[in-house]
Amino acid sequence: MSEPSGRRALRRSVSALDVGLLVAALAVIVGTAAKHDFSLPDWNTFSIVALASVPVLIRYGMVIESAAGALRASTAPAVLFAYDLDHPLVFLPVWAVVVLLSHLVLFDTGRSIGRGSIEVLGGATMVAVSRSIDTVLWPVDRAVTAAVVYTLTLVTLELLRVGVRHIDRVVGGVRRADAGLAFGGLVLACCVVAMLREAYTHDPHLITGLLGAACLATFVVGQILLARLQASVRGVDALAAAGQAMPWPADQIENTLAGFARSAIRAQDARTQPSSGSGPGQLSIALHEHGYLVVERVRGDLPFTRADARLLSALAGLSDTSRAHALKEEQLRHQATTDDLTGLPTYPHFRQRVERLGNARGGQRRIVVVFLDLDGLEPLDTELGHLDTDLVLSALGTRLRTGLPENVEMCRFGGDEFILLTVLDSDAAVEELDARVRSLVEEPQAIGDQVMQVSASLGVAASRDPHELIDAVIRRAESAMRAARDARPRVQAEAQSEVIARLLSDDGFAVVLQPLVAAKSGELEAVEALVRVEDQVFGRLSPVLVVGSAQRSSLLDEVTEVVARRAIDAVRQVEALVGRRITLLVNIEFAQLRSDSGLLATLRELVRIHGIELVLEVSERAFEDWTDDHRATAEELRDAGIGLAIDDYGAGYATYSLLTQWPWDLVKIDRDIVATDTPAGRRLLVHVTDLLVDLGFPVVAEGVEDAEQRAFASGSGVWLLQGWAVARPLTSEALLERLRAGTSF
Ligand code: C2E
Ligand code: MG
Ligand code: MG
Repeated sequence: MSEPSGRRALRRSVSALDVGLLVAALAVIVGTAAKHDFSLPDWNTFSIVALASVPVLIRYGMVIESAAGALRASTAPAVLFAYDLDHPLVFLPVWAVVVLLSHLVLFDTGRSIGRGSIEVLGGATMVAVSRSIDTVLWPVDRAVTAAVVYTLTLVTLELLRVGVRHIDRVVGGVRRADAGLAFGGLVLACCVVAMLREAYTHDPHLITGLLGAACLATFVVGQILLARLQASVRGVDALAAAGQAMPWPADQIENTLAGFARSAIRAQDARTQPSSGSGPGQLSIALHEHGYLVVERVRGDLPFTRADARLLSALAGLSDTSRAHALKEEQLRHQATTDDLTGLPTYPHFRQRVERLGNARGGQRRIVVVFLDLDGLEPLDTELGHLDTDLVLSALGTRLRTGLPENVEMCRFGGDEFILLTVLDSDAAVEELDARVRSLVEEPQAIGDQVMQVSASLGVAASRDPHELIDAVIRRAESAMRAARDARPRVQAEAQSEVIARLLSDDGFAVVLQPLVAAKSGELEAVEALVRVEDQVFGRLSPVLVVGSAQRSSLLDEVTEVVARRAIDAVRQVEALVGRRITLLVNIEFAQLRSDSGLLATLRELVRIHGIELVLEVSERAFEDWTDDHRATAEELRDAGIGLAIDDYGAGYATYSLLTQWPWDLVKIDRDIVATDTPAGRRLLVHVTDLLVDLGFPVVAEGVEDAEQRAFASGSGVWLLQGWAVARPLTSEALLERLRAGTSF
């Protein structure tokens, strides 16, 4: 059976030395009490008031705080001092019991056993020593002796307790002014209580007793005010230090804030966190867009005041300013090292980065430089305007940044020139890089209402010689580029509507089918139709470009109809081959979901004629408000046997309300969620699948790229799998071929 945790924690916090100190303190109590046959002191108003004030003095008498909180100059000994100087030690045992009990009740039990015992021993030593000196200047000289003895005993025993090696934990953090004040306070307290007692002994009336009580009360209040005063001095010091340290080091702002907060208000713990703290003895200050500063009181310490909160707010303000400063610096650094337009490094920054790569060549390894110059951008400038030219450059920057391996360093060299540099092992790798850069540059893009394609002159130079300067290799690449330049074609631009119209009339749309298989059995259940375009002028155009251009030219319904007709033909062949139903998924845009749509009427008709199972997918990204017209359209489709699916769920805002708008026939979880290998990402997939399954939707995992992702997605409860790990999009011929060959997916 396990020990109750409270007792275990107590055992851990009390050391053998604490127990030893406690035994010594108890021995003093019992010894002195026995000496007087356990008789009690002479009870009167004054002694009762004095004893009752001891716990209060202990609780609030903290004027000195060392780092370990060990040296606590309480004025409680003053009470003892006044009583036991001229009298037998009859008051000591009672006082000592009150001190020990006060510590146990008022503070953290474990540690206060040691500390309380030390105070008892300090008090006993103080009385023993100061009684033995002759006084000339009563009670001042005795009070000073008493305070010295008491303090020395406390420090010595505390050092013994924490170990001399940790002397800084006892005295470290004690400021000289604090120590002086505490010592002076103790002497003063001894004098005041001694004189009051003397007055009371000569004239033991109620009124003198009350006067004594009032004096003691004033003393306690004075102590509290003093502690508060010291707290503000400490706060001002910390604030001044924090101000002087501005701006705080950019990567240390959080820690710096916590550190200053701790020293400003003597908190046990100070930290920044996303939410505000709610525990007892906690204070939270909101940081501008960066969560909260949460501080925690030292247990048993005075509660936080409004002044503490104001102090922390001021520190929080400094942290905000430091953060703004760091951000500005980061922006300036970014501006100096990054080209605005393309997001690529500037040439000087690039030069710095590639320096170390220069030494990485030799053997098979060579430095490869590609010098790239866009063709005919100046005439384009006059034709299109600077803005569109900028768009071309910025799109190219993005493509180069995201489309090449990470170890390719690159920069914008100026105007329309770019330099790429990397280390490669073989001629084949050099050729591959050359081809990849060319295809990234030449990929057609939509700029304004145009489809545009730029071409570039490329010069490639490689060097295996570690002695050849990088600049020399760059120069060779540049001359190679110049030699190649004139032979290249120029910028192509054509209105998007013309491109789409030409594709429609030239029958330029092809369709590929990507299989969707059951996660459990691996059996083919559905195919998604994806548009493919090979244009006579621009070559291959990406589906996203084509769909966007067709939409902007109001020709998307025509395009979708062509895609759907082709796909239906293909699916019918597949169904004939496998001898069962295969669902066809066709992509549409949200804007195409209209009750007056001619396209949807045609699709309903096609489904009726061919009796196929058709589901239309709409990407979550494209969804806007789901209106009554959308609902009516969806109902009409359902009546005709056409289903609706959410595509790319989780690529947008993973909108929950979308899930309640319509009983979707399929929800496809976006590949960003599926293609993850972090533990958090995997849990997300499991939770999203659970949610969707729980809401009753059949779930598809999209973009399953490898065997590991496939195994994980299969185990997470999805119904269908789609992605490269199952099959790439295939022409209908290739798909039929695979099915005939009986190759499994
Ligand atoms: P989508 O509907 O989400 O289609 C899936 C896309 O992911 C396809 O790209 C597909 O080739 C790709 N893909 C499939 N498996 C994997 C994989 O394992 N890993 C990765 N990285 N990608 C995979 P594609 O063909 O380029 O199509 C892009 C988007 O263009 C489609 O995304 C769809 O939104 C749109 N689209 C394609 N054809 C049409 C169409 O006929 N009409 C409409 N409105 N949109 C279409
Ligand atoms: Mg899709
Ligand atoms: Mg998708």
